[in-house]
Amino acid sequence: MTRASLLLMFACLPLGQAHAKQPVQAPVKKSCDSGIILKLSSASAPQGSLLLGEISGAKPSQEFSAEWDGRPIPLWRETPGSPTLHALLGVDLEKPAGRYDWKISWSSTDGKPLTCSLPVTVRTGKFPTERLTVEKQFVQPDPEQQKRAEEDQKKMKAIYDTVTPEVLWKGKFVVPLKGVSTGGNFGRRRVLNGEARSPHAGVDFPAVAGTPVYAAQSGKVVLAENLYYSGNTVVIDHGFGIYTLYAHLSEIGVHAGDPVEASAEIGKVGATGRVTGPHLHWGLTIDHARVNALQIVQRRP
Ligand SMILES: [Zn+2]
Repeated sequence: MTRASLLLMFACLPLGQAHAKQPVQAPVKKSCDSGIILKLSSASAPQGSLLLGEISGAKPSQEFSAEWDGRPIPLWRETPGSPTLHALLGVDLEKPAGRYDWKISWSSTDGKPLTCSLPVTVRTGKFPTERLTVEKQFVQPDPEQQKRAEEDQKKMKAIYDTVTPEVLWKGKFVVPLKGVSTGGNFGRRRVLNGEARSPHAGVDFPAVAGTPVYAAQSGKVVLAENLYYSGNTVVIDHGFGIYTLYAHLSEIGVHAGDPVEASAEIGKVGATGRVTGPHLHWGLTIDHARVNALQIVQRRP
């Protein structure tokens, strides 16, 4: 990814509406050694989607580790000693199409190391391309603006590099605006003033400035400040590498370090940062993978 595209990762413009419906995908299951069964919500996933993983048949004290495309990912049990472990696999919206493995490792009762894996086919997402003309300062920021945007980027990277080793969420994720169920623009490939840019990594919800914005889920606020492109921004850590981001707010109602409950008000819709009008930009990141946030509402992790 080029520096310019990194800098434009959070930029967004509210154009058009699209429902985030994905084609129906069938779950897949595999029987492994010592009675362990792996399940995935689908054997195939488009860019920008998420998959639910499940390991069943585990002994209460048995430890497992999991990798998704070679990177370690967290596993959790809903209750201690449960025979079922859960995982969430994020497919980044620019992950190249191809075959990747979800791999599980554990030890048998006599100490023998065991592994089992399920392949996932990542498909190219169907995203429209938009061509836009925006103010020159946002396409060619001056050195001071560029420096600010780079500092923002470093801050965001440090946040996403941190994996809080516990589940901070409880129950279902919700859309962060009341009475809204769909948003648009996720994954749009963009050409700004004739130059190809990074795709739009969030879901946009057009809304009147001042509309309350609610936490999609419980967690801890890890960022609550003004950023160059995304304006007044809040990022919430939900644990295990899962983060939600709320951008372009007119007002921020929380501070970094605050614990938040699901559906607590965290700010108000605005038009700060690089925008053409008031709207909420909502992002979901799972272990650095930029995923359509509406999917975590549709599929309870
Ligand atoms: Zn946006």
